[in-house]
Amino acid sequence: MRNLESKIILLFFVLVQSSCYYKPFIKYTFNKEGFKKFSKKEKLAGNNENPHRAYQVNKYDWVVEIFPDKERIAGTMSISFTPTIRQDTFLFDLQKRMKIKSCSTTGDFDLKRKGDFLYLNFEEKQTARKRITLTIQYEGKPVKLTGEGPIQWKKDDKGRHWISSITEGVGPHFMMPCNILLGNEADTTVISVTVPSNLTVTANGQLIGVVEAENKKTFKHLVTNPINIYNISFNAGHFVQLNKPYTDVNGIERNIECFAMDYRKEVADDYYNQAPIIMKEFEQLFGVFPWWNDGCRFVESTFAAMEHQSCIAMGDEYYKDWKDTINTTLVHELAHEWWGNSVTGKDYCDIWIHEGMATYSEALFLEKFLGKEDYTERMRKMVFSAYNTIPIHKICGVAYNSWTNGPDQDIYDKGALMMHSLRVLVNDDALFLQALKQIQVDFAVQNISSEEMVIKLNKSLLDDYSPMLNWYLDEAKPPQLEVRIDKKKGKLHYRWAREIPLMMRQELVVLRNKEEIRINPTSEFQTIDLVSGEKLRFLIERGIYYQLNVLDVIK
Ligand SMILES: [Zn+2]
Repeated sequence: MRNLESKIILLFFVLVQSSCYYKPFIKYTFNKEGFKKFSKKEKLAGNNENPHRAYQVNKYDWVVEIFPDKERIAGTMSISFTPTIRQDTFLFDLQKRMKIKSCSTTGDFDLKRKGDFLYLNFEEKQTARKRITLTIQYEGKPVKLTGEGPIQWKKDDKGRHWISSITEGVGPHFMMPCNILLGNEADTTVISVTVPSNLTVTANGQLIGVVEAENKKTFKHLVTNPINIYNISFNAGHFVQLNKPYTDVNGIERNIECFAMDYRKEVADDYYNQAPIIMKEFEQLFGVFPWWNDGCRFVESTFAAMEHQSCIAMGDEYYKDWKDTINTTLVHELAHEWWGNSVTGKDYCDIWIHEGMATYSEALFLEKFLGKEDYTERMRKMVFSAYNTIPIHKICGVAYNSWTNGPDQDIYDKGALMMHSLRVLVNDDALFLQALKQIQVDFAVQNISSEEMVIKLNKSLLDDYSPMLNWYLDEAKPPQLEVRIDKKKGKLHYRWAREIPLMMRQELVVLRNKEEIRINPTSEFQTIDLVSGEKLRFLIERGIYYQLNVLDVIK
């Protein structure tokens, strides 16, 4: 009976999700083994080598009106782009439910739709390096993806409209025409959002104008830096603006803006006192905040949190999860401004650079602000949350931009554990931290591959750590410490399951009752004598990251 019930519930859930129309999302949710097979469509969409993607986006000019009562949008997107090779066909993305009303560009052309793809075909080949502007007028009701996005239409505690967009893991093409590839960032982005006049809009970049007409208001924002396509976003609601003055690492007076719901002004005001503290530590660790010219803003959003560049979305739960002192999500999202937004992966397969580094930054912040014990405690939490079933360096060149299933979350904690392991091996904190800062200088506002990141780390750290980094990046499992426990004879035998690179042959710390002992495993079994009732705890967080694999216990 119970089984039948669960099957019916599952079937209902699948049908509900099917009605949401987005099959990859279902695949991502239910496939626990990873994403070994990709459809033709996913390969086409994410292929960096596709010649029809051989152009650089220069500017997005997005003008959109939102209709909260109908949950619809209508807009115009102008995409300025420059071909990098001489050709006549260019590929863009727009989810198929969005209806195109008109389209214009220079010269004779036609625009063909094939599923979620837009093919712009010119009669004549277009010259390389000569800029083209494509303008598409469109409208529609964005597909609702089980509450994830691309636009969440919600009501605030007073029953008023509250709307946030979020497209990471969903696809920005669900709400606007664009190029979804991570490596193709526009230099300039204009976001112009029209809403009913009782709502306030905030978006990425600086607010450069508000125009009011016929019970409507238009808020225009300008982003003057390259921005990841999935960071382009807006929020509409009944916000109040709070300001947190801040002096940056160069001694320049700045302002951190915080947009909160009007009825949560006091709690938000207290909560955001953390923001200048976190900013100060990160500027010391990674260098000056990359987007002061676009501003630094936090906004209360309908979902938990998202690193939308220069307009970070934070949820409505104003609490401090780390010892009632700090909110680690706020720390994480701000860290993304350096890791993910300034230094960006070249392909979605490199997304650990965003999430692993932002997660590791949480530990680095806690260490600087509260001390080494808090760093170690944060790392220990990660040790026990990694799945280790899929490599964190993903398959490249596919439209893989969702990480909603559990095992795929290793890009966060395992990415951080890799950096922690690297620090252990380097054994020189000053050198290690300087290397992170240098990456922020050398790769500022750039897209880099995992390989480039490894090469840069090796160069900065004056040694070749590739065998270790590649193990954590490309293998599903970290080093395995095999253990055999013989309770009868009071022995614990341990060894590495396979030979590990020489540099990783480190002492491991084990807590024996309250005393720390050190072991130096090899691929041969070694033994620890156990006294009856004695407790052993492997302090994995104190050394390189590994997993314990208990082969057997003889009682
Ligand atoms: Zn993140």
